[in-house]
Order: sequence, then structure tokens, then C-alpha cells
Amino acid sequence: MTARVLVVDDILPNVKLLEAKLSSEYFDVVTARNGREALEAVARDKPDIVLLDAMMPEMDGFEACRRMKSNPLHAHIPVVMVTALNDVEDRVRGLDAGADDFLTKPVDDVALLARVRSLVRLKFVMDELRMRQLTGASLGAVEDVAPQLGENFDDARVLVIEDDKRSAAQLTAALNGHWKVTTQGDGEQALIQAKGGSFDLIVVSASLKTDGLRLCSHLRSIEETRQVPLLLVVDEGDRKRLVQGLEIGVSDYVMRPVDETELMARARANVRRLRYQNLLRQNQQRSMAMSVTDALTGLYNRHYMTTHLGTILSRPEGARSCALMVLDIDHFKSVNDKHGHAAGDEVLREFAQRIQRTMRGTDLACRVGGEEFVLVMPETDLNAAVAAAERLRQAMDGEPMKVAGLPEGLKVTCSIGVTPTRADDSIETAFKRADGALYEAKNGGRNRVCTAF
Ligand SMILES: [Mg+2]
Repeated sequence: MTARVLVVDDILPNVKLLEAKLSSEYFDVVTARNGREALEAVARDKPDIVLLDAMMPEMDGFEACRRMKSNPLHAHIPVVMVTALNDVEDRVRGLDAGADDFLTKPVDDVALLARVRSLVRLKFVMDELRMRQLTGASLGAVEDVAPQLGENFDDARVLVIEDDKRSAAQLTAALNGHWKVTTQGDGEQALIQAKGGSFDLIVVSASLKTDGLRLCSHLRSIEETRQVPLLLVVDEGDRKRLVQGLEIGVSDYVMRPVDETELMARARANVRRLRYQNLLRQNQQRSMAMSVTDALTGLYNRHYMTTHLGTILSRPEGARSCALMVLDIDHFKSVNDKHGHAAGDEVLREFAQRIQRTMRGTDLACRVGGEEFVLVMPETDLNAAVAAAERLRQAMDGEPMKVAGLPEGLKVTCSIGVTPTRADDSIETAFKRADGALYEAKNGGRNRVCTAF
């Protein structure tokens, strides 16, 4: 994993120490000596993670963090605040400023690398999602994510896995005021609950009698819980288990004795991250679907069809063996006029369904305009294409289409033009011929198939 780390500290030996540790693990290190320099370096060097000393002259770490996190261009870069040992107040201040994590001085080697690796891994995932989000937005297919994601996580669900009664009560009480908390002392039961519960956060005690780390490892390997943030509760000084936990893929941790403010702040940060990732993923799926399909019928849209046809025509053997079919619903305007647009939409949907039921798997069906549809049929000679067109014509002409409010349904027919594509065809010339055949079918009395060469 090659990542760029920005190390910020006002004391030169501290900078040198962290730089040496990270460089020896092949991280690319850049440095700054105060908050102001740090902000400049963030803009200039685009680091993947920032290690930020809390106490510095000019502009301290808290202020630098706050400014970074309020800049939409840099807010996604993880910040690890480096604070004095066990200064809980500083940690809470850091979380309020938007820091993603903490290290305490003197910085422990193993914790440093585990932390940096885990946050960088997360950032790479987020970068990928953000990039696809931008692609979607540039196609006009998705809205910006930020306005959709409020800071209101009142509906968050948390599973607390702890077999020590007193600790369970404390953890539950701290989270309960904010969220819906389920507490479970048995590891096996917890696993079952976690699978079925769609939790936003799972808090696991490392000191479970049934082995908290093994449980975390299970939770990471199961499809249903792989993305759910895991917050590990470790005994103070139990560095071994903490490092193991981070290696397993635990998202975050708190040390005992648990500070309730810190627990809540960390829990909230993790829930926010999960919700953000989920939102990006949903938007991405929706934008993928929206950018290639027609919302009303679920068939491919014109943009996708022309791209696909262009690919076929770009190869001579593809162009010589493909057929193009254009279908147009007869007198569709009168359906809308007589029965309303809702009825018109029902007809369009039913028409599309009948196309899908009738066509072959290799054919590509799309809605290219109001009541106009196209089938791209690779590896199809004219005879086969005409036979397919005739089947489609009959499929429409047979059963009346179901329309709400019309018990007898609606009789719908269509006219169809068919043409084989040629090696010298462009998308335009191929469509011009198919449209010519369609025009002939309309002129010849509709509800028929015509061909053009
Ligand atoms: Mg300092």
C-alpha cells in the first residue's frame, strides 16, 4: 500500500521520528511545522492521511483540523490527532473538530502503523466511491450526496456484545440516550443477531470469555456484517489485543475505563462513515441503472442502444450479420387522448414486457422515443429478423392490453420496419433505412412488417 502521509508537529525531532518510522514502511512522507503550513501542504500535496499534533504555535491542531474538515475538497482526508498521553479532554476536542482518530505521545510503533493502514484503506474505498459519484453526476444521473446526508442518526441501531454485567450496563446507558441499543452477552447469539439485525454499529468487548477478537473476525468475514463498523472495547494497556483487533479489521476502539463522551463521539463518527458509504453505493447503483435504462419500461435507453450499435457496426463482421428493427405503436396519440396519460403509460409498459417475452436473449431492446422501440439483433439474417418481427406484431395484436378502468382492455397494434445492417453503415444510415421501412408499414395500413435493404 503506497500512501502519502502528512506529518505535522512543531518539534523537529518528533517530525523526524514519525517520518523515519513511516518511510521505513514505504509510506511517502511530507511534513509541516504548524497548522497554517499543514493546510498549505494538504492543498498542495494531497495526502492520503494527516498526523496532526494537537499543540502547536500559530495555528494549533484543533483549528487546522476544523478548517480542513469544513473544506469540501479536503474533508474526506482522514486526520489522526496526536495528543498528550491520556488527555481525554483533548481527544474529545479533537473529535469535535472532526478528527478521525488519535495517537498519544510517545507514539507507539505498532499502533501507529495499524492506525495509518486502517484509515488509508478506508480512504481508498471512499476515493473510489467518490470518483464514481463524480462520473454519475457528470452524466446528470445523480444528485450531490452531501445535502442528502443530515447529521441526524436518531434511527441508528447498535449491538453491544459484552458479558460483564457492569460494563454492559455502562456501555448501554451511554449509547441508549441516543440510539436503539441491543445488548448481548453470549457470543454465539450475538453473531446470529448481528446477521439479521441490520445494525449501524457493533460494539465488542475484547475481554469476552468466548474471545471477542474471534467474534470480530467472524463479523468481518460474514457478508451481512462485513461493512458494519466494529468498535472494540479494550482494557487499558492491552496493546496486544488492540493491535490484533486492528489487524483483523476492527474500525475503531475505546480504552477502559470508558469515557462516555469519547465513546459517543467515536460511535457517531463511525455511524456517519457507514451512512455516507451506503448513500454513495445506493446513488451509484441508481445512477448506473438510470444512465442506461428507460425509467418507465426498464428497457435500455437510446444512449445505451446507440453506443451498443456503434460497437457492433465498428467491426465489419458484426455489421454484416446484424439486423435492426424499429417498432412504433399504431395510433398511440389517440390512446393518450381518449384514456389519459396513465393509460398510455400502462400500454407502453405492457408493450415493453411483450417485447421482452418474445425476443431472444442476445437481442437488445430499447425505448428510443415516446412510442418508438428498437431491437438490435446481432447474428441475425433478414429472414430470421422478419420472422421475429412477425412474432412481435402478433404478440401485440393478440390479447388486448390490460388498462386500469377498462375491463375489456385495449387493443393495440404496431408497425415494424426491419433492415439488415451493412459493413459501410453508420448508425444514421442504418436507422434511415429502418425508418424508411417503418414509414412504408405505416403507409401500407399499419399493423404490418416491412423491410428495406
Ligand atoms: Mg506540539
